[in-house]
Amino acid sequence: MLRLTCPYCGAAADETELTPGGEAHLTRHGPGSSDEAFEGYLFLRKNPYGVHFERWRHAHGCGKWFHAARDTRSLQVFGTYSAQVTRPPQDIIDRIAATHPGFDWEAGQ
Ligand SMILES: [Zn+2]
Repeated sequence: MLRLTCPYCGAAADETELTPGGEAHLTRHGPGSSDEAFEGYLFLRKNPYGVHFERWRHAHGCGKWFHAARDTRSLQVFGTYSAQVTRPPQDIIDRIAATHPGFDWEAGQ
């Protein structure tokens, strides 16, 4: 079972208390952007077998959206953090790099 700690209220919530929101750190493209950029924003998502950054909502708790970094292969959770940032906190990136040598946040974006 997936268990994430909400970074806002501090509750350790299992997946039945959470609502998934898909990939985190998407760059939004709207009207006026190129067709390719808009298509990418609407339809193209990563589906890695490994480190992934996701959006979750603490639906049966405080109701806030947050981000989680986890490994989809092992279900290891590296941490959760505010959804109001454009990149994961450095301590989470360091935690990932410790178990995934060669991991590079910038290269994955
Ligand atoms: Zn919460």
